[in-house]
Amino acid sequence: MPATTMEQLVSLCKRRGFIFQNADIYGGLQGVYDYGPLGVELKNNLKAAWWRAMVYERDDVEGLDAAILTNQKVLRYSGHEDTFSDPMVDCKKCKGRFRADHINGKCPNCGSTDLTEPRPFNLMFKTAIGPVDDGSSFGYLRPETAQAIFTQFKNVVDSTSRKLPFGIAQIGKSFRNEITPRNFIFRVREFEQAELEFFVEPGEDEKWHEIWKENRIQWWVDQGLKRERINIYTTPKDDLAHYAKACYDIEYQFPHGMEELEGIANRTDYDLGNHTKAQEEMNLTSHCHPNPDSTQKLCIMNDKNQWVVPFVVEPSMGVDRGVLAVMTEAYTEEDLGEGNSRIVLKLKKHLAPIKVAVIPLKKNNEQIMNKCHEIKQNLLKLGIGRVALENTGNIGKAYRRHDEIGTPLCITVDFETIEQSPESVTIRDRDTMEQHRVNVADLPNYLREYFL
Ligand code: ATP
Repeated sequence: MPATTMEQLVSLCKRRGFIFQNADIYGGLQGVYDYGPLGVELKNNLKAAWWRAMVYERDDVEGLDAAILTNQKVLRYSGHEDTFSDPMVDCKKCKGRFRADHINGKCPNCGSTDLTEPRPFNLMFKTAIGPVDDGSSFGYLRPETAQAIFTQFKNVVDSTSRKLPFGIAQIGKSFRNEITPRNFIFRVREFEQAELEFFVEPGEDEKWHEIWKENRIQWWVDQGLKRERINIYTTPKDDLAHYAKACYDIEYQFPHGMEELEGIANRTDYDLGNHTKAQEEMNLTSHCHPNPDSTQKLCIMNDKNQWVVPFVVEPSMGVDRGVLAVMTEAYTEEDLGEGNSRIVLKLKKHLAPIKVAVIPLKKNNEQIMNKCHEIKQNLLKLGIGRVALENTGNIGKAYRRHDEIGTPLCITVDFETIEQSPESVTIRDRDTMEQHRVNVADLPNYLREYFL
């Protein structure tokens, strides 16, 4: 049974060092979190799984790592300066501020119905650039990673000789001044996105929209989410973002409800169309704003030797929401009988922050400790990820800790290991709790088979 309350996850995350409130010692910064020693590993593993599936395993995608600081013109011509806002209402009684579409005419704070009319609120963080902060020179912290993919489109095409269809993938931080950050890391002001912009021949976009929907559902299932806890929501035409012709949301059953984990939008030729020069020559289908500032034509030669502005299908996931989803799904409270229970995080092994814990039966025995160090260093060479030397010296506590943080295998070094020949250790499986002995010499092969 997955986590049913956010409290279960918040508590585990803090207790074991996955996620902390940012600036905790000063009372926190609202809507901002820091990833602790285990959180950084889990998040990196999830990003690596995405990169592998989206870039390495395909032959039609290139990567990009663009800057967070964004030229104002990029977000002017993308339409974000005009439209990237949520309608807000203020409660006249308690002064709380909320997204109008999140409440039903009633203040969620104090219950008052005395609210202001909804007003637009721009979600972008504006920041001064350069030495003089007089408002004349500013940029933005990007509100999505996508825009740099569009503005670098020509450079990527020219340097890789790509033909349609092909994609550009990017993982990185995005910033939105959310009015009501809430639900732990679900809605935050600084978050990470993993986005693919997939460029296709106009007319092929609807086909690719379906292909990417199926592909992405399968990827989430591969990360451990149960298909029956995933829902596909088709955005009604009236609710579509300013750039989209159609959008599917992959929703997941989070502890606080069925909510968006990833959006898969058909962005048409809207973005390249808005950022290109010579719009009038481009046969654009989108309604684009005139752009006298762009210096490049953002088009590509198709296989009929015609210049076209491609359509774009965009799977865009929130990495933090992904971390929350895989933790929710993996969280398990198990009744072991006779009044005993355990919490175990049944993460897929490729996501587990620590792959193997090497545990000494006695930490004040030098021979055992030396053997632990030696085994750890040898296993690291396999490239399976983090192998940790567990230094608590209390075997029961060590198993409990590694169950809770999702370590798939624990290796215990005991007196038999150092006294008998051939040397052997105990391997304990996280999910079954079964233990068996393996010769130290066989460990590399055993683990290679298990993890790779
Ligand atoms: P929402 O409707 O929940 O505000 P959105 O539709 O505005 O999200 P997109 O612009 O489609 O979100 O962004 C793509 C993905 O980025 C989302 O599916 C989500 O996983 C993630 N994301 C967006 N805003 C946030 C946020 N404030 N905190 C964490 N993740 C976010």
